[in-house]
Amino acid sequence: MSDSVTSTHTVPVSTGLVALTGVNKHFGDLHVLKDINLSISKGEVVVVIGPSGSGKSTLCRAINRLEPIDTGTITLDGQPLPSEGKALAKLRADVGMVFQSFNLFAHKTILQNVTLGPLKVRKLGAKQAEQRAMELLERVGVANQAQKFPAQLSGGQQQRVAIARALAMDPKVILFDEPTSALDPEMIQEVLEVMVDLARQDMTMVVVTHEMGFARSAANRVVFMADGEIVEEADPETFFTSPTSRRAQDFLGKIL
Ligand code: ADP
Ligand code: MG
Repeated sequence: MSDSVTSTHTVPVSTGLVALTGVNKHFGDLHVLKDINLSISKGEVVVVIGPSGSGKSTLCRAINRLEPIDTGTITLDGQPLPSEGKALAKLRADVGMVFQSFNLFAHKTILQNVTLGPLKVRKLGAKQAEQRAMELLERVGVANQAQKFPAQLSGGQQQRVAIARALAMDPKVILFDEPTSALDPEMIQEVLEVMVDLARQDMTMVVVTHEMGFARSAANRVVFMADGEIVEEADPETFFTSPTSRRAQDFLGKIL
């Protein structure tokens, strides 16, 4: 027996930056995540697709512990997710999240929306936080809106601010849950462009989306979920041209 096996000081071992092992989650009688195994490498872009109700949002929410799981383990950088306190606040900073509904703070300016987290959680100085926020707002193309309030911006602009806000925390991974689903068609592209740009710069991303153009151009891997299970996963080219499962074939038949 090697030391590592007999040692009482166990260090969690996992391969990916984010690793889910045997994850199960129920809402009452509803089994929404069924024995999920998924490992996401640093710099990888994983697109999650599947029918409504298949558990995609719950999967995302489990990864930053907005939703506790019943059984199994989720690790970030090899460490099990914390469940409370300062460690949980740090987790939420390390695992950025961009929602369908933007979720900006309505009574704070765009700039304040982006500086708040770094000031509170990362303990950045005011000047430094502002400087960094302005750089990020510049990067997503809304620096000239910094002093406005969210309601004064278009949906596409708000969602780009939400991405800047996540980036301001220097996250290890960003989860995007249908980030363009609430947008008017003409604004979808400007948000996807920011996301493609992030993907090119090796941001680790989990993206729930029905935007197959994005999946094809930016994803390293497509994960297809149905009824709480990962039914199939493959590189986008393989997945879109020759899905193997009947459920993926049916799903693609409906959306493509
Ligand atoms: P998706 O994002 O793929 O549409 P969700 O993860 O949102 O799927 O939901 C998976 C299933 O869990 C759905 O049947 C949904 O109605 C149910 N569900 C989601 N959140 C809750 C909740 N907080 N309480 C009860 N049921 C929920
Ligand atoms: Mg969802």
